[in-house]
Amino acid sequence: MLSIDMTGKHAVVAGVADDGGFGFAIAKALAEAGATVSVASWPPAMGIFTKLLDLGKLDASLQLSNGTKLKFSKIYPLDADFDRLEDAPAEIRDNRRYRDSGDFTIGGLAAAVKADHPDGIDVVVHSLANGPEVKKPMLEVSRKGYLGAVSASAYSMVSMVQHLGPLVRRGGSFLSLSYMASERAVPGYGGGMSSAKAALESDTRILAFEAGRKWGHRVNVISAGAFASRAASAIGFIHEMIDYAKRNTPLPEAITAEEVGSTAAFLCSPLASGITGSTVYVDKGYHAMGIAVDRSAGGA
Ligand code: NAD
Repeated sequence: MLSIDMTGKHAVVAGVADDGGFGFAIAKALAEAGATVSVASWPPAMGIFTKLLDLGKLDASLQLSNGTKLKFSKIYPLDADFDRLEDAPAEIRDNRRYRDSGDFTIGGLAAAVKADHPDGIDVVVHSLANGPEVKKPMLEVSRKGYLGAVSASAYSMVSMVQHLGPLVRRGGSFLSLSYMASERAVPGYGGGMSSAKAALESDTRILAFEAGRKWGHRVNVISAGAFASRAASAIGFIHEMIDYAKRNTPLPEAITAEEVGSTAAFLCSPLASGITGSTVYVDKGYHAMGIAVDRSAGGA
């Protein structure tokens, strides 16, 4: 039987701060496949996440199919806006939610992972994004807001490959998460977030080439359909997007986080050893449509 076997592999999944997003589902799918998993959490969200874990409030979500409970090897603090501690402004470093976190930058994450895994790791997942002006249309976005979205949501992946690439064992895998607004206009997905996703997908191709030639690593990106995670719910119209997708996708149903998780586990596994530089759609086929079918004239 052909199965995804990640036994003996270690994965670091960045962008997990609750059990309701893609990062958590990916971490769980990798664990289901036999990998050990660490996660990295944004310091402003990390306190409540660790508290919920300690209180057992996430136990049902952590349940694995073999009867054991998923236990993260480590939860690292990570603010992916920064590469080195010196880059973080004093008001962030001194903020009560950051000041006891140690080095919460991407460089700090790499140093901590290296100390914990001197023999290397195998998988790095980037499942995070932030657009400070995401609710603003492009005609109103500020330079700071636009660059902030690209910094947190796209350059962060470049920096993670730079910093963690040397720590990943030969043949390892990097994966990030994108959204179709990278290639089609999606009014409401603003603040330069669409630009950040376009950069993320473009960077995936050149990172795949460079990291492939340098270390033998693969770099891919999943373009996921609309899903009501905490981050997406903050944008404001996610339920309308999900309803619209359900009416117009070839498979007329909402995507699940588990579907993204299992695709991610496959892409990060040896079964996908021939796939790199790819944008893989997990959207019930929405990207393939050229016309909406929920209009009154025609359709399904
Ligand atoms: P989520 O809320 O589970 O994940 C987003 C995470 O990013 C959160 O844990 C948040 O704390 C973290 N984060 C924000 N700013 C950060 C920073 N500066 N440094 C480190 N972490 C930071 O939501 P999600 O929707 O599962 O998002 C995961 C990925 O999936 C994102 O890249 C998102 O754009 C992408 N995606 C989401 C959808 C959707 O509809 N939910 C669709 C396509 C792609």
